[in-house]
Amino acid sequence: MSTSFWLDRSRDSETRAYDAIIVGAGISGLSTAYWLNKEDPSLKIAIIEKSRLAFGASGRNAGFITCGSVEHFNRMINKHGLEQATEIWRFAQENLRLLKEEIIQDRAADLQFEQNGAYSLAAQENEFNELKNVAQTMANLNIRTEIFNAEEVKKHAGATNFVGGIKYLDDASVNPVQLVKRIASRVKADLHEGVEAFGIAEGADGMRILKTDAGEFEAPMILMNLNGYSAVLHPWFKDKVYPTRGQCLMMEAVPRFMDAPCYANFYLDYFRQVPSGELLIGGFRQVEKESEVGYSDHITEPIQNALHEFVVTHLPQFKNAKVTHRWSGVMGFARDGEPMVGSIPDDPQVFFAGGYTAHGIGLAFHTTKCLVDVIFGRDVPKWLSARRF
Ligand SMILES: Cc1cc2nc3c(=O)[nH]c(=O)nc-3n(C[C@H](O)[C@H](O)[C@H](O)COP(=O)(O)OP(=O)(O)OC[C@H]3O[C@@H](n4cnc5c(N)ncnc54)[C@H](O)[C@@H]3O)c2cc1C
Repeated sequence: MSTSFWLDRSRDSETRAYDAIIVGAGISGLSTAYWLNKEDPSLKIAIIEKSRLAFGASGRNAGFITCGSVEHFNRMINKHGLEQATEIWRFAQENLRLLKEEIIQDRAADLQFEQNGAYSLAAQENEFNELKNVAQTMANLNIRTEIFNAEEVKKHAGATNFVGGIKYLDDASVNPVQLVKRIASRVKADLHEGVEAFGIAEGADGMRILKTDAGEFEAPMILMNLNGYSAVLHPWFKDKVYPTRGQCLMMEAVPRFMDAPCYANFYLDYFRQVPSGELLIGGFRQVEKESEVGYSDHITEPIQNALHEFVVTHLPQFKNAKVTHRWSGVMGFARDGEPMVGSIPDDPQVFFAGGYTAHGIGLAFHTTKCLVDVIFGRDVPKWLSARRF
């Protein structure tokens, strides 16, 4: 980013001093502030946001609070081994427990929080067989799932043309913007909206300077919570967190029939009927994977058409419903699909959390608790530490 002489607001202002500067006001930035407050209530914290609260992926997602990761559990085992795959799953379960205990509390209705589980549905026998194996593996680990045949999927999820699926009984869903606002309401920090960061420099006395279009901010530590936008502020992320677009479509409300959110097609596609009856459907990046990268939040015809076609095939209740919203958001896909916390190798005063790979609502609250562990010298799980790169 460059700033012209005319637009440069920094010429008008003094450097502002804080104990910690968080960059990015999505679920990750706000959660980081929450855990920092808890660690040391005396810390003076600034949150710098180029737009407004939850304007990035945190305000554009589907609101699934998923346990686990981006793939079927048996595939996670193939990738990480049983022990680590189980650790990752339990980490996400703990994310949900922490969210409920610290944030949601008695506000479930305001946040449209529901814990009705989530389906993973198969349109082909081979995926259904894989899912049945997953259910077996999970039963051995005391992770609660239930197998549904085609008729049962139709009855409970209202979805047709699937051969079956499994339900993860512990998953939940939420209104993601209300969730971020609720975290914000429990945070003590100065939120600077409409301020874009464009560089980090070394200041006097070991301070770090965050350069923004509204002047300089100074603190002993800078915490990057930019997820998909991380590489814009620091080149270290260029080969570690890739900006990846996700698109959604919303259809007008019909009476509620779906008892839980659903994934389909190996987690690539997802849909849910929100508490007020509208249908949210997203995914289909596979239709034009090469172009679904970068920082633009535009939508494309092939993916939007694929989303609508899916509705016609699988959700006849919405066949005649009008489309009310179409949008996209920028996610941060990590090189190995798992989130990361740490500090920049060349600058140990610049910390970060990100790389949520489409699962920040299910992972960020716990991940940022671990970020605060890193800052205060405590160990974090190896698979989560950015030292793995
Ligand atoms: C369509 C879609 C569906 C999704 N569905 C789900 C789901 O159902 N469940 C789930 O768990 N996850 C889902 N995700 C992923 C989830 O939304 C993200 O993982 C999560 O929101 C990341 O949060 P964050 O705070 O790290 O990043 P963001 O919410 O992207 O926040 C980063 C913030 O940084 C700001 N920023 C960027 N550059 C600068 C700068 N230079 N200076 C200052 N500020 C800057 C941005 O404006 C933004 O507000 C989905 C994402 C998308 C796009």
